[in-house]
Amino acid sequence: MEFDVTVIGSGPGGYVAAIRCAQLGLKTALIEKYSTLGGTCLNVGCIPSKAMLDSSEHYHNAAHTFSTHGIELSNLKVNLGQMINRKNEVVQQTCDGIQFLMKKNKVTVFQGWGSFIDKNTIQIKGETETKNITTKNTIIATGSKPASLPGLDIDKKRIITSTEALNLPEVPKHMIVIGGGVIGMEMGSVYARLGAKVSVVEYMGSIIPTMDATMGKELKKSLEKLGFEFFLGHKVESATVKGKTVTVVAENMKTNEKVEIKADYCLVSVGRKAYTDGLGLENIGLTTDERGRVLVDDHLQTSVPGVYAVGDVVRGAMLAHKAEEEGTFVAETIAGQKPHINYLLIPGVVYTWPEVAAVGHTEEELKKQGRAYKVGSFPFKASGRARASMDTDGVVKVLADKTTDEILGVHMIGPRVADMIAEAVVAMEFRASAEDITRMSHAHPTFTESFKEACLAATDNRAIHI
Ligand code: FAD
Ligand code: NAD
Repeated sequence: MEFDVTVIGSGPGGYVAAIRCAQLGLKTALIEKYSTLGGTCLNVGCIPSKAMLDSSEHYHNAAHTFSTHGIELSNLKVNLGQMINRKNEVVQQTCDGIQFLMKKNKVTVFQGWGSFIDKNTIQIKGETETKNITTKNTIIATGSKPASLPGLDIDKKRIITSTEALNLPEVPKHMIVIGGGVIGMEMGSVYARLGAKVSVVEYMGSIIPTMDATMGKELKKSLEKLGFEFFLGHKVESATVKGKTVTVVAENMKTNEKVEIKADYCLVSVGRKAYTDGLGLENIGLTTDERGRVLVDDHLQTSVPGVYAVGDVVRGAMLAHKAEEEGTFVAETIAGQKPHINYLLIPGVVYTWPEVAAVGHTEEELKKQGRAYKVGSFPFKASGRARASMDTDGVVKVLADKTTDEILGVHMIGPRVADMIAEAVVAMEFRASAEDITRMSHAHPTFTESFKEACLAATDNRAIHI
């Protein structure tokens, strides 16, 4: 069988690339080693984690805020098994949707392990048979797997990754989270809301350390209200399991003091690493960088003409929507178009409560660049909409060029900011000034007014409601 394009891996990078290739009239194959399509994102990432976040948030609100709203409940309890069943149904519906889209777009799907025999021959090793297909172009979209720490044995029962955290048999009494990044804060929130004590051990001096520092500071305050405990600036030395107890030893990097934390579960969320095992890269003369990532040029092409790579397996943010943009980009490049991705404007979101969302430069980056900037901030406690819904934690922070007023970065923590950040992306794509946003009507009362108010604050300190 001969194809114009073969995509290896069916995550958001791979399946979007396959659909776009098919839309452009290219004969396309998609190879996935698992029986369900959708990759990390749909099976064990974005979708199931958001399902668990939504369910646990309902429980938390029922337990803690409903009575203030005048809603009385008795006998409230968590049914974790049902919560996980619902999550599994959401995952199944979503993955089935991708199968449907493959059929609709006439993409040929192969289940099996894809690997290079040579640049134009891909082997597919299935459970019962192995076959080869020939292809003019190949897109590597094999994604990533959880990373670990040296000397730390992830037994998947007590010391777990996000994958096991999505299917625990019980609500932990106490969960240690190693790594205060996105997965740690999201999955930690799920179990803290369901009643677990959560202790976070983070190497850096703040949580979500790659985001604007204000976000980490504000999120920490909100999570502390939820009962999180933080050991920042601590390096994990060991994690050991004895019976049902995990013991983590970490060193305070300033004082060299050691802390020992005991819990029934330990989630390791210290990042993810690119996945290229068994892909046969060596058969086409490709090597990976020091972090195991496939090297690509500005067109996402490897050093082998006709072999491209997208998503978590290449440099850049490990995000589903970044992978999708790259999948589309490569499909259009193969079809002879000249697409473009503005990497600065790929938003980042943390689905905690309050949510965190950002696009563009952080204040720390602007300082480092020596760029003259101004800041406008608006706290959600001054928003009528936020008071009505009892969601007053958080702030919107707008960074704009001091001279031209062009928006350079937007950082939000608060209710529904995961959705609100889209306005900032559009504004920045069209190179709006902060004043441009202030001249646009925002429906009242909505959370989005807070973005307008922050832009007003950045424009000669003109915020109306603070
Ligand atoms: P993947 O989704 O990892 O897909 C790669 C696929 O390739 C897999 O299905 C794998 O089985 C297959 N494969 C690998 N090798 C082979 C081979 N040799 N042959 C055949 N098939 C192969 N991102 C967001 O943007 N928003 C979120 O809310 C979010 N939440 C997340 C929550 C969790 C818990 C995790 C772990 C991740 C989350 N992410 C989120 C990150 C997101 O899942 C990834 O960035 C995204 O899935 C990357 O897409 P991809 O297509 O590059 O790779
Ligand atoms: P991350 O990079 O977000 O966070 C890892 C954290 O671990 C960092 O804060 C880092 O400083 C810390 N760390 C590293 N080594 C450590 C050590 N020895 N001791 C203590 N702390 C240590 O990674 P993650 O949370 O594992 O997530 C993996 C990827 O998945 C991320 O790139 C993220 O983009 C993606 N993801 C995205 C979302 C989302 O978009 N909402 C959700 C989940 C995951």
